[in-house]
Parts: sequence; C-alpha cells; structure tokens
Amino acid sequence: MKRHCTAFFRNALGLFLTVLLAGPFGLPSPAMAGEGASLLERGMVTLSFDDGLAGVYQYAFPILKSRNQTGVVGIIATKLDAANNDYMTVEQIGALATAGWEVASHGYTHKRPTDIPKFYSDEKINGWRLDNRQEHTFQTTYEYAQIACILENGQPLKETGSFEEMIEIPGSFFYDREIEELHVKPRASKVKASELDIRACSYERELDFSKKALTKIGFQVTSYITPYNFWNSEMKELSRKYYQQVATGWGAPNTLATFDPRFISRNVIHEQDTVGSVTRLLRTQALEKREWVVLCMHDIGESVGWEPWAAERFERLSEWIAANGLTTVTLTQGAQILKTAREAAAGNPPQ
Ligand SMILES: [Zn+2]
Repeated sequence: MKRHCTAFFRNALGLFLTVLLAGPFGLPSPAMAGEGASLLERGMVTLSFDDGLAGVYQYAFPILKSRNQTGVVGIIATKLDAANNDYMTVEQIGALATAGWEVASHGYTHKRPTDIPKFYSDEKINGWRLDNRQEHTFQTTYEYAQIACILENGQPLKETGSFEEMIEIPGSFFYDREIEELHVKPRASKVKASELDIRACSYERELDFSKKALTKIGFQVTSYITPYNFWNSEMKELSRKYYQQVATGWGAPNTLATFDPRFISRNVIHEQDTVGSVTRLLRTQALEKREWVVLCMHDIGESVGWEPWAAERFERLSEWIAANGLTTVTLTQGAQILKTAREAAAGNPPQ
C-alpha cells in the first residue's frame, strides 16, 4: 500500500512537471514553482534557527553563504535590540534577510498558549480589590501559569521583583507566584478598582504583535515558528488570521500527501546529535522518501540557549547538503512549492 502511494505521488509529480513544461498558469514565482517539484525530487531541506541567537549570525551565516545556502531565523520580538548580546541585533537580522534568509516570528515573548490567555477576548483581568497595605494599589487572583505582559489601558506595565519595589513605581505590577496573587500600581491616579482596565497579554496577541513588531522595522513576515514546538488545532485555526504558514515540532512528515502549511513538521537537532545522524535523516527522508525536511536548530558555535550545535559540525552538514545536491529553501518557499505541486497533482492548477 505504501509503495503504491509513493508511486502514485511520483507519477503525480511527473505529471506536474509535464504540465509546467506545457505552459505557465499564473504561478506566484515561475522560477520557484517551475523548479519546485524537481527541488522536492532532488531533496529539499530547510534550516531553521529558533530564538534569534548571536551564534547564528556569527557562525551559521558565513558557512551557508559560502555555498549559496539560506536559512530561516525565528525571532522573539521582545528580544529585538535587547542589550543582551546573546541575541542578534536588528542589523544582523537585516543582513540575513538581504542574503535570502527568511525572518519568521517566534512569538512576542515566547510563550505556550496553555500558559497564558488564548484570545484577545480572554485578556481582561477582573476581581480587583484595593490592597489594604498601601494606598492606590490593587490585587486580584491570576489564574494562568505565566505572564507574557500586563497592560493598563493598552500600555504595558513594568514587572517588578517585589511588592515593595512595585509601590514606588506607578505603572508597574508584581506577581506573587506562590499564592497566585497579582498586584498592580496603576499609572492612572485616583482610579477605582471597578474602573481598572488591566489585561494579560494573550497568545493571539503573541501572534499578532510579534508580526507587527517585525513588520514595523521592515521585515516581511509570513511564517510563525511555535515556541517550544507546542501547537494544537485551536491555535492552528487562529493562526490563519496572521500567518500563511506555521512550523512546529513533529507531526506528520511534510509530503505532498500529508502537507499542512499550518503544521509544518520539524526535526529537532539536539546538542549530542552527530553530523552522521543528521545526514542519515536527510538521506532517508529528503533523498529517498522525497519529503521536505525542516530542521529545528538553536544556537551555533556557542554554548548559549537550548541545544546549541558546534560550528565545525554545522560546516560539515552544510558541505554534505551541497555535495548531495539538496536545496535549502525557506519556510515560505517550501510551503509554496508543496502547495503548488499538490494542487497540480490533484489536477487543480492554482489560480
Ligand atoms: Zn524558542
């Protein structure tokens, strides 16, 4: 059965190529789509790097550039221009984009939808009461595990490390995790508890604001990479409002038959993974099964963050990819190629 299916899709791919050779039909990018199916035939891989860490610019970028290969970087919007030099600067991200890399959103503050409110409509925090200990501070119970951000009348409140610190700063909050009590010192003076408009940023805001922040500084963002590779059907549906494609952890392989642009599977590369184990995966999935393989990596060449990988190993991986004729594509390119190829295989040329 499996062999039969593979043969079917190989034939379908052949048909697609024949149709393409016969004439164009309003393809978004003739070069990309025309070569698309053959790229998948020859082996197609996406190298994605989560969190926007500095080693990606310093090590991965020159290694890939030397072989005309590209990658995708998943940026956490609130880490843009952080004073922290663990992260790439906006200029460095810009250099990647200029060289053909894709800049994707990796969230506003890097949260899971299960840890914060899900939708804009869930954001309003209620139940405020005046705190007896201090004038003009309020408290309420906070039911979620994490705080992405807290807004008063749409403006962010500053997080403080203690109640004592908070009472000195109008426009701040303190979350006492042990007893799940949220305290605020509002910016607005003489406001009553019932008049407070305090919101906890939702996952929908994570999707929306991260894209807006990246767009505002000039990046064209159409892809979302889920923090912690966490994804579910509810958020997948929500993502339609904001993104054309979403990459996450392991779901079904990215084949013509099963491909879902809002559930792009990635294989996570761990710190201890060898070049041999990664190239074996590429040989089996990209070359033999003709699946679009998307690798999920983090920092390169540094011991920063989760699962960093040595630059020397990355160099050998890049070399193997080139030597074996695999093409590196971005998430946008890969998704477009599979979508176009599948529509053609189904006999429905894209409009
Ligand atoms: Zn991440």
